[in-house]
Order: sequence, then C-alpha cells, then structure tokens
Amino acid sequence: MKQATVKNIKIGGGAPISIQSMTNLSVLDIDATLEQIKALECAGCDIVRIALPNSQSVDAFKVVRTKTDIPLVADIHFDYRLAIGGIEAGADKIRINPGNIPQEHLDKVIHCAKAHNIAIRLGVNGGSVNKAYLDKFNGDKKLALIESLRDYTNYFADRNFDNLVLSVKSSDIRQTVELNRAIATLGYPLHLGVTEAGLLRQGLVKNAIGIGSLLLDGIGDTIRVSLTSNPVDEVYAAKDILVSLGLKSGVQFVSCPKCGRCSIDLETIATQVYDYVKTLNKNIKVAVMGCEVNGPGECKDADIGIAGANGGYILFKHGQVYKRIAGENVLQQFIEEVNKL
Ligand code: SF4
Repeated sequence: MKQATVKNIKIGGGAPISIQSMTNLSVLDIDATLEQIKALECAGCDIVRIALPNSQSVDAFKVVRTKTDIPLVADIHFDYRLAIGGIEAGADKIRINPGNIPQEHLDKVIHCAKAHNIAIRLGVNGGSVNKAYLDKFNGDKKLALIESLRDYTNYFADRNFDNLVLSVKSSDIRQTVELNRAIATLGYPLHLGVTEAGLLRQGLVKNAIGIGSLLLDGIGDTIRVSLTSNPVDEVYAAKDILVSLGLKSGVQFVSCPKCGRCSIDLETIATQVYDYVKTLNKNIKVAVMGCEVNGPGECKDADIGIAGANGGYILFKHGQVYKRIAGENVLQQFIEEVNKL
C-alpha cells in the first residue's frame, strides 16, 4: 500500500494509525483557534483540520500556522484559489472534493501541492456524488463513488502525484463500511469516519461501529471520530477505539456495571480514576470494581485496580490483593501506586 506524508506523520504503508480532529470555530478567531489546537494536541491529536471558507480565513490560517507545530490540514470546498492559498499559507495537507473543482483548476492545485510537497485528501461524501457517475451506474451510489475515486486517483497518478489519502463518508454506517471495504482495494491510505454522526452518545456508538468494524478488517490508516461536541471528545474517543482494539498503546480502563454486592459509590470513584488515568502515557490496564468478591478475580489481567470492600476499598495488582484502604484517600493512594507502574 502507498504511504502519504503529512509533515512528520506518515499515513498508511504500515505506519501507526493517526488521530485527527477538526477545529469547530472560525479560524478568524486566531487566539481561540490556537487554544483549541493546544487542547486537541494535549488530548493526543496527531493532525488538526481547519475549514478555510474564504480568503480572510486563509490569511488567519497563515498566522495560526506560524504559532503551532502540529500538522495542519486546510479543508477546502469549491474554490481552487482557497486550496492554493491554504497550501501557500503552510498547510501540510489539503482536503478537497475533486468532484466540485473544474479540471483546469484541479491541475493548478496538484501543481501547487507538488511544489510544496504536501499531501492531498480526496474526500467524497455520500451526499455529494458526482451526477455523471450516478447516471453511469443508474443511481447506484456505491458503484458511482468507487468509480469516481478510482478515476480521480488515476488522474492524479497521470500527473505523478500519489501523496494521497482517500475518504468516502456517509452518515449511513453500513454504507460507510461497505464503501471503505471497496475502496481499500485501490491501494491508497484511507481516512475513516462516519460523517454527521450526531450528538455525543449516539455519535460515539455510530463511530465505534463504523470505524471499529473497518479497523478490525485491517482497513483504515487515520481516523476522525466526528461528533457534535467539543472536538477534544473526538480525540479521546478515537484513542479509546484504537487502544481497545490493541492498535495503540495507552491506558485500557474497565469498570464493572455494579450490582447489589457493591458497597461503594462506584460511579464517582470510577469517574475520578478514569479522569486521572486517561491522560497517562502508560500502556496499562486499570480496573475499578464494585466488590472484592468478584473484582480482582474478574480482572486478573488488570495491572492495577481498586474494588469496594465493606464500604472501604482494596487495591489489587495483577489479580492479587495488594493492600486495604479506608474510604478516605483512596484516590490519592491509587494515584501514588499507578504512578509507580
Ligand atoms: S464486581 Fe462485584 S459489584 Fe461489580 S458487578 Fe461484579 S459482583 Fe457486582
């Protein structure tokens, strides 16, 4: 499979799966944009995308570029001059839908991207399929999308440009999975996402099903969990998906559903522990369980955990009781022990 290069990040060709997100405010507010980029970076985002809807936003993007080192993607629709502006302003990659840029303008964009040695994501959405392709396949959206992307990649290859990432998105999960399985055969790195996935809970479920199904098939090289929420939530969700599937090192967190044996405020302590460990740069499994009857035994493979015990807690390591802790200071003692790992 081919590999794309976005500044210091490789996409595809065996590179680690990278995490992307997108700022959700106008880039004209430069300070707020930089603040959001910093928050995304701290949460573990590898690549940040910014929408450039007009020439003023290109100017603002140029300033943002000088104040952050994270790889930046300029998101462009329709106007090839914005694509060229974004590249010249320092974008490490641009995202375009080639279907809405005339051929002579597309050639100028390719020429500029080559000159600046940056990547291009060819993004096609289920809702924006080129009509000529739909007509050719009697309205079959799947066949039309695949054929259009095949033609686009050939068009770029004819111009000696293969620093490409492909994406096909739909708000329909089955369609997203089927389309990505089909375009995986084209041999280019894939950007995965379920578009317009909805608010936090529904969006997390849809993204986990769509992205997770494809990753389990070995398909996908960079992911964006699209949510109507703070973009930082997108990054934590992407990390959770990758860590859960063993595709990224990090903290695996488990907690029990709680039952009548539980004698502690499980939800509170589990939330506190999770909020602490989610930021750690450690490859460990952490468990918070409601009771000592089943807790340590059920989590033998956890590196560290706590379980409720008659209103107090036991701290366990690798399925064995390590020490007992009274109700107070449990979080502090847990933090001390987890920091030793
Ligand atoms: S660990 Fe204990 S409290 Fe939690 S579900 Fe199992 S038996 Fe119930």
